[in-house]
Amino acid sequence: MAARDKHVNLGRHEAGCRVCAHPEREEIETQWCAWANTSELAKQYGLSRNSLHRHTLALNLRERRAKNLKAALERIIEQADVVTVNAGAVVAAVQAYAKINSAGQWVDRTEQINLNDLFARMTAEELESYARSGQLPAWFENVTGGTPIDSQEDKADAKVEQNQQETD
Ligand SMILES: [Zn+2]
Repeated sequence: MAARDKHVNLGRHEAGCRVCAHPEREEIETQWCAWANTSELAKQYGLSRNSLHRHTLALNLRERRAKNLKAALERIIEQADVVTVNAGAVVAAVQAYAKINSAGQWVDRTEQINLNDLFARMTAEELESYARSGQLPAWFENVTGGTPIDSQEDKADAKVEQNQQETD
């Protein structure tokens, strides 16, 4: 029943979607899943950012994109030669690339972190920011950095206190 609903919704999506109707739809999807920038990709194929965004949501492409983490890291590493990329981001990307197996799992640590789960929790903006600059959201680094979750509150409190001292 749920599958049927999904099918109906997808049919409705396809009927009004310029990406679905696009002759180069497959190429667009492939590039988006390889972390091409949404706005630039839309522009390149004469689409609006919104229609591309709706399409990726309707076809659940975000999951596929998250699994292409390696491709994103490759882009960061490759771009280091061409454009000015934050040096720390490149180092982090190279390190991360070396530690991620083909299933998208971090293999450096005793307990495996499923990066796909973490990336699935990131917003589209956070994912794009990571693909562009290698900048992970703070909460992500807290998880992968192995900092115990229950120490985070203390840290946050300490930071608030510090800020208060600075403003005093
Ligand atoms: Zn579509």
